[in-house]
Amino acid sequence: MPDNYGEAGATIAIVGAGLGGLALARVLHMNAIDAVVYERESSRHVRGQGGMLDIHSGQRALREAGLIGQFYAIARGEGQDMRLLEPDGTLLLQEDTPDDAPLERPEVDRADLRDLLLDSLPEHAVRWGHAFESADNGVLHFADGSSATYDLLVGADGANSRVRALLTDARPAHIGQNIVELCISDIDRTYPDLAAMVGRGNFWVLGDGRSLAAQRNGDGRVRIGLNFYNTAEDWFATSGIPFDDPAAARARLVEEFTGWDPRFTALIEASDDTIVPRSLTTLPVGLTWPSTPGVTLLGDAAHLMPPVGEGANMALLDGALLGLALAAHPDDFPAAVEEYEREMFERTGAAARMSADLHELLMSPDASRRLLAFFQPG
Ligand SMILES: Cc1cc2nc3c(=O)[nH]c(=O)nc-3n(C[C@H](O)[C@H](O)[C@H](O)COP(=O)(O)OP(=O)(O)OC[C@H]3O[C@@H](n4cnc5c(N)ncnc54)[C@H](O)[C@@H]3O)c2cc1C
Repeated sequence: MPDNYGEAGATIAIVGAGLGGLALARVLHMNAIDAVVYERESSRHVRGQGGMLDIHSGQRALREAGLIGQFYAIARGEGQDMRLLEPDGTLLLQEDTPDDAPLERPEVDRADLRDLLLDSLPEHAVRWGHAFESADNGVLHFADGSSATYDLLVGADGANSRVRALLTDARPAHIGQNIVELCISDIDRTYPDLAAMVGRGNFWVLGDGRSLAAQRNGDGRVRIGLNFYNTAEDWFATSGIPFDDPAAARARLVEEFTGWDPRFTALIEASDDTIVPRSLTTLPVGLTWPSTPGVTLLGDAAHLMPPVGEGANMALLDGALLGLALAAHPDDFPAAVEEYEREMFERTGAAARMSADLHELLMSPDASRRLLAFFQPG
C-alpha cells in the first residue's frame, strides 16, 4: 500500500533532501502547500555533508524562504579571504575581508545550511530512508518495496539523479579533472604554522596540471582538495595511489607535487586518514527538455556543473523559485512547472557557461596568472 495512502493533498513529491529540495519544501510550507521530501539517507546525521559553500545569488532564495537573518548568523564573512600562490611559494594575491565588509559571498558550512532548512520544516515533511527507484502512473517506488502517490514529482536527487531519466537521456560526463580530498582536524592546535599559512578563508596554489586548494571550515578543520587536471576518468585506478593505505597514499600524493614549496606538501603530510578520491562529471551546458506535466528537476539533477561556486546557489534558487511558481498557480502545476523551467533554463545555462569557462581557465598551463587577471580585471 502506498505510504501516503489516505492523506489528503500530499501530492507534491520531492526526491532528495539536499539544499534544492529543502528550499522548495520550505517555500511550499510557507505557502501552506503540502509536499513530502523522500530522502534515501536514513537520517540527517548519517553522512558528513562536506565542506564550506560560498553563497551569493542563493541568498535571494534564503530571503524568499524567510531564513536570511538566520543565514547571516551562521555565515562566515572572514571565509571570503583569499590567498593565491604559485608552487614556488610566490604570493600573487591576498585579500583579507574587513570586519565590516558586506556579506556578499560569505562561506557557510554545508551541514549548518542544511540544518537551517531542515529545522524550518515540520518533522514529518522529510521521510528518511526512502531511496527512489522508479515512477509510473503517479506512483513512486522505493528501494525497500514501499510506494507513494504523487501529482507532481520533483527530482532534487543530485548529480546521479534517477528521476532525470524520466525527462532526458543526458548523463553526466567526465571533464578531465580528478580530485583527492583531505582534511586536517583541529589545525590550530595540531599544526598552528599551517593554520596561519592557510588563513581564515581560501588558500589556492595553482601549478601546471595540478592545484592545491585549502579552506578553513567553521569547526576548526581545514579541508584540502588536490586537483589533477587533464586526467582521464580511470586515473585513480591507473595512478597507483593506494587509497586503502592512508600513509602510503599521502607519500604518493606528496610525490605528485615534487618541486612544490615544502610548506604546501606539508599540508598533505599533516592530513588525517580519511582520503576521498572524487571524479568530476558535468551535464551538457544548456541542457533543456520539453516540459512534461507531472515531473521536473532542480539543482544538480538538472544542471550539474564544475564546482566553481555556482551549483549550490543555483539549487537554492531553483527550489525557491519553483516553490513561488507553484504558489502562484496552486491549481495548475503544469503551468507553474513551465514558468519555472523557462526561467531556470536561462539562468542556470548562463551559470553553467560561466562555470565551464572558469574550469577551462583552471585547466590551462598559465592558470595562476589567468586566475589573477580574473580576480583583478583591468
Ligand atoms: C567539492 C565541492 C565543492 C562545492 N562548492 C560549492 C560552493 O562553494 N558553492 C556552490 O554554490 N556550490 C558548490 N558545490 C556544488 C554544490 O555542492 C551542489 O551544486 C549542490 O549541493 C546541489 O544541491 P542539490 O540539492 O541539487 O543536490 P545534493 O545536495 O547533492 O542533494 C541531493 C540529495 O538527494 C539524495 N538522493 C540521491 N539519490 C536519491 C534517491 N534515489 N532517492 C532519494 N534521495 C536521493 C541525496 O542523498 C542528497 O541528500 C560544490 C560541489 C563540490 C563537489
